[in-house]
Amino acid sequence: MNVFITLDYELFFGQQHGTVEKTLLYPTNRLIEIGKRTGAHFTFFVDCGYLIKLKEYKEQYTHLENDYNLVINQLKELCSEGHDCQLHIHPHWEKTIYNGEKWVFDYNYYKLSDFSDLEIVEIFKRYNNELEQITGKKTTSYRAGGWCIQPFEKVKSSFIEAGITIDSSVFVGGKNTVEPYYYDYTTAPDKDFWHFDNDVCKEVKDGKFIELPISSYYYSPCFFWRLFLLGNLFPSTHKPLGDGRPMPSPNFSRRKLLTKYHFLSAGIEGYFVTKIERIIDQNKKKGFKNTVLLGHPKSLTHFSLKKLEKIIQNNKHNHSFLSFTEFYNEISG
Ligand SMILES: [Zn+2]
Repeated sequence: MNVFITLDYELFFGQQHGTVEKTLLYPTNRLIEIGKRTGAHFTFFVDCGYLIKLKEYKEQYTHLENDYNLVINQLKELCSEGHDCQLHIHPHWEKTIYNGEKWVFDYNYYKLSDFSDLEIVEIFKRYNNELEQITGKKTTSYRAGGWCIQPFEKVKSSFIEAGITIDSSVFVGGKNTVEPYYYDYTTAPDKDFWHFDNDVCKEVKDGKFIELPISSYYYSPCFFWRLFLLGNLFPSTHKPLGDGRPMPSPNFSRRKLLTKYHFLSAGIEGYFVTKIERIIDQNKKKGFKNTVLLGHPKSLTHFSLKKLEKIIQNNKHNHSFLSFTEFYNEISG
């Protein structure tokens, strides 16, 4: 099995976005250390709108200039360590201002489809150029912010222009159509890999693009009871390392989590890490060759990092923990 550990490299988007040190640098440095000890390569989907905003404000605020330099240096280190930096777009940065103390977000422009067609092309190109300047490589892969890649027709020409082949925004069966989100992957094929052309959910043999979807898993109420209980009993081990708060989610309900099964994208952060081997087994039984796992540096915990390293060490002879670029090189011969 190819196991792709992917991380969306970004701040929190709530009113408390967190510091660069705790939300990005520290947890990512821990991952770099794990990579060195295990030989695993990770894929980071880098929120490039943030880099562009830092650049815009760095002349005005020296602390933002410092943040900018630290982030760029870390991304360069990731590349030189054999990890992958690919494109992640949260276009609400376009409407974001810095008020001297913190970033102020506008959720009315949360997804690319909230912009005009012309704006989408321009944003996509500018964000991708920013990334390629840092990595010194052509981007091959993309993940939409908040999983919102639909309708794909709106970004198709940008994919072609940038030469992007692989998308990893879909998680099979996922759906959230409550604003500011919009995605519906309930009609996506239950596969680990497919080609497509105009619609990410519709397999087209010999299609131009490849979907390498994030794996999905049914998390039980029992799982969430354990998660909340451990968080309360041992906060220092189970508290996210990032020092911000997520943006308010209109359909989050703790009660629902504790009483119903939830079909979610397969995570590596917090207590979710405990299901990784189960998810790989589930995918193996389905005949899959690829398992994509999702996390964010900001949401990792001391527990999840420790456990993740153990899982990689225990499984590295049976499975390949590789990056999207390594996979891309493999399939393009
Ligand atoms: Zn994101």
